[in-house]
Formats: sequence, C-alpha cells, structure tokens
Amino acid sequence: MAVPDDSVHQWDTILTLDFGSQYTHLITRRLRELNVFSEMLPCTQKLADLKWKPKGIILSGGPYSVYEEGAPHVDPAFFELGVPILGICYGLQEIAYRLGKDNVVAGTAREYGHADLTAKRLDGEGHVNRLFAGLEDHVKVWMSHGDKLVKLPEGFHTIATTQNSEYAGIAHETKPIYGIQFHPEVTHTPDGTKLLKNFAVDICGAKQNWTMAKFVDQEIARIRKLVGDDHVLGAVSGGVDSTVAAKLMKEAIGDRFHAVLVNNGCMRLNECEQVHETLTKHLGINLTVVDASKEFLDGLKGVTDPEQKRKFIGGKFIDVFEAQVEKIEAAVEHSGGKVKWFLQGTLYPDVIESLSFKGPSATIKTHHNVGGLPKRMTEGQGLKLIEPLRELFKDEVRQLGREFGIHPDLVNRHPFPGPGLSIRVLGEVTPERIEIARKADHIFISMIREAGLYDKIAQAYAALDPTKAVGVMGDKRVHAEMVILRAVETTDFMTATAFNFPHEFITRVATRIINEVHGVSRVLYDVSSKPPATIEME
Ligand code: GLN
Repeated sequence: MAVPDDSVHQWDTILTLDFGSQYTHLITRRLRELNVFSEMLPCTQKLADLKWKPKGIILSGGPYSVYEEGAPHVDPAFFELGVPILGICYGLQEIAYRLGKDNVVAGTAREYGHADLTAKRLDGEGHVNRLFAGLEDHVKVWMSHGDKLVKLPEGFHTIATTQNSEYAGIAHETKPIYGIQFHPEVTHTPDGTKLLKNFAVDICGAKQNWTMAKFVDQEIARIRKLVGDDHVLGAVSGGVDSTVAAKLMKEAIGDRFHAVLVNNGCMRLNECEQVHETLTKHLGINLTVVDASKEFLDGLKGVTDPEQKRKFIGGKFIDVFEAQVEKIEAAVEHSGGKVKWFLQGTLYPDVIESLSFKGPSATIKTHHNVGGLPKRMTEGQGLKLIEPLRELFKDEVRQLGREFGIHPDLVNRHPFPGPGLSIRVLGEVTPERIEIARKADHIFISMIREAGLYDKIAQAYAALDPTKAVGVMGDKRVHAEMVILRAVETTDFMTATAFNFPHEFITRVATRIINEVHGVSRVLYDVSSKPPATIEME
C-alpha cells in the first residue's frame, strides 16, 4: 500500500470524506474553529490518489442507505492506513455495513431532531470512552436518520445509547475506529465541538496549529511556485472576496498581478473612486479602471426585461474585459512577460457545491463570479484559473481581510450584484433614473451607518419603481416615481426577513430622500420575506 506524503501541508489535517450530507462542510468548519485544519474530499476519493497523509479521517452523513444498490462506499484502503476514523450517521452505518451486511436496516421510525444521549464511561472489558471524555453522562444530541444499526459489528462495543438507538455510539475494541449516529457538527448538539476535539486532538493527535497567518504563508509560496515568472489577471469589484484575493496576489507576485475594474455606469455613488483609492493607495495593487459607462448605458436603452438587462451587462462586461486583457498582454509581452493566469475569488462553499459525493468529474460545475467570464477566459484565451481563496469560508476571508489591514468598512461590506444599480432601477435604465437610485441609496446607507445598524443588516439598498404617484411640494403638484427601500437579515442568503427598523428611523430616511432627491414623490419600505420574494428586485 502506498502511504501518502506527510510534507504537503505545514499543519496537521483531518480528512473529511463527504457522503453528501448537507452538514459535511460544518465538520471542516468546526475543526478549523479549533485550529485543526480539515479538508473535505468526495467519498469517492481513493487513498492511492491522495497526495498527503491525514492525521485522522471522518466519514460524513449522507442521504443514501448503505444497503441500497448504488450507495457510495469508502475505499477500504483507508481502514488500512492505521489513522483514527470517525463515522457520523451514514459514516457509522458504513463502518458497520462493511463488517456485516445485516448490521444496518431501515428503521421503523425516522428520528429527526433532539435525542437524549447517555454515554458509557467504561465497557465490560474496561475500555475507556475517549470520544465522550469531559462531556456529561447525559447530553442532548441532534439526529437525522431513518436507517438503524441493529447489530454491533464484530470487534466493537457500545459507547453511547439513546432511547431509539441502542448503538448511538460505537468504538472498536482495539483499533481507533468510532461511529456515532448523531451529528456533532450542528449547533443543535451543544457539546458537539468538544466531541470533535476529543477525536481530532486527543484521539488523532492533531496539533491545533492551523492559523490564518500560516495559511497565507503557504498560499503565497504555492502561488509563486505555480505562477513562476508569468503574469496574472483578475477582475475586481470592490467587494471583499475580489479585494482579498487581489491583495494575496499582490503579496505573492507584486506588479505581475493586474487588476481590472470595469465601470459599467451602474455603480454606486463614488464607488469607482473608492475602489481605486483602496486598491492602489492602501493596498498597492496594480489596477486599471476602465470607464465603459457610456457603452453600458447606451446598450441598456429601452431594455426593461430583468433577464435581458443581466444578459446584456454580463456579455458587455466580457467584451470590455477581453479588450483590456489584450492591452495588458501587449504591454506585458513587450517587456518579455506572458499573461497565463486568471484570478478567481472562488470560496469554499462553491467548491463544496461542485464536489458532489457522486464523484467530482460527473458534477463539477463552473462558477461564475462575473457572468460567464472564467470559461471564456480559460477556454478562449487559454488562461489557467488560480483560486487562492478556495479553501476558505466567507468569514475566514473577512478575517484575512482584517489581517491584511483592509478597512473594516470594506471587509464588512454588504454584497452588491454584478449588474449593479441596473437591477435596482426597475423598468428602463436611463442615466437620470440611475442617478436618482444612486442618490437615494447613498442617503439610506449613510443613515444606516450613522445609526450603527449597518453590521446588523445583511443587505440594504434603495430601488426605483417606475410607477408615478402624486405628491405636493411647496404647494405645487408633483407627479414622480417612487423609491423602494429594502433591508434584510439573513445568515446564508437562502432565506431572509425584512429588517425591523424603528418607525421613526424609516420616516426620517423617507423625508430626507423626498427632500433631497429630485424626481421622487414617495418612499416605500419592502417588508417581504425570502421566499417568496428575493433579496434583489430583479
Ligand atoms: N440515509 C441514512 C439514514 O437515513 C443516513 C442519514 C444521515 O447520514 N444523516 O439513516
């Protein structure tokens, strides 16, 4: 058996094999919070193809039943590696099924939710229960399963029980192999992190030595080796991901990284200037700002369909960007260099999404940060993708941003859509209407900041509704469009609820917008939730 190399990572790593559970990424998440690095790979991973040696292995939960035809199974070679293994839910069932096909059956009742678990301290042979060390004898755990372990696999003993699951926790008598029916990675299992720590640190012996600074050092070294003397291109938007990725490239290869910011005419007030200032002055990044606002706004004339707006802007962006790439390439070639890489700010959740348990090759999906750009860049121009943030979660990127000294306002910025204000100006996009939305948005966001509410809100903006309403200003009748304010609270952007502003605050915002922005008759507040509404209007 080939034993994988130990020197690839500068830190101890727990391998998490993903059997398709919706919580698998939380396992890696919890371990990283303990400063233990964990990498998640699909359950189809073969040990022979692994380039590094894990300190331990976790088999995740999953939607399949182990006894089903076509159910995924772990490469048996992992059991020969001699490192500790922990099976969670499907993972536990997989461990048991390998040793006896009748060990796992469909249960009579699905168990979904809380369960009271009793941990055994010692078994009849006097084995100590290391997985539950330091936990109370009775703990609350969270379950989500329909199948059941009905027999103890040979060589195992029970380390925990619940009323419904006689074998809620099992351990091998001599080898460091453990299985639990519940999910320690979800917050509904309050002591779950302690249990994962027992496994990773005490049982696997992993050092808690993963830090962001070490990650940066390793990533910079990796980028330098990968890129050599080549040049790298990247589109920046002023958002946290592209800014942090750009800063990392700058640290690694200096001015051989070329950032491009395209002004599409639908940016917010002073946005281009601010991005330029931050990237060039504060972060020293080699940035070209391309003002294509006229081209974009001309092309948007008469377009009212939201999808058409998005498509046009996405397509135009590629045209503008490609023209810029040619310019940069010409300049670089002149001095003997070559642009061979394209930077993409892919984050870990995107990677997780594309690494399905059915095997990466069948389901890999291209992620587009900017409508269709990477594919055309990589396929059309033969550029290779470089994704320095692909192992990080969003809040880890924010932490990295803070460590790079990027201003907190930028690090904590609300997401902003690629098509910019064009999808917040409902109906036809004209320079005048963009300007109204821009001013109203600026007032709203400034007031939110002044009230200290910005970080409590996930996303906030002002939109412009083309419907006209009547108003009276200075004894004169006005007939003008309406501004819609939207602010939502959410943790994952999949569901969201409207932010509950004090009434008095919303009234003050409305007064200022109507008084200060010409062309607005009324201000409305959108209280819809997602679903059924979306966060953006179009
Ligand atoms: N599909 C298996 C069951 O229902 C495992 C579920 C899981 O891993 N959450 O028991």
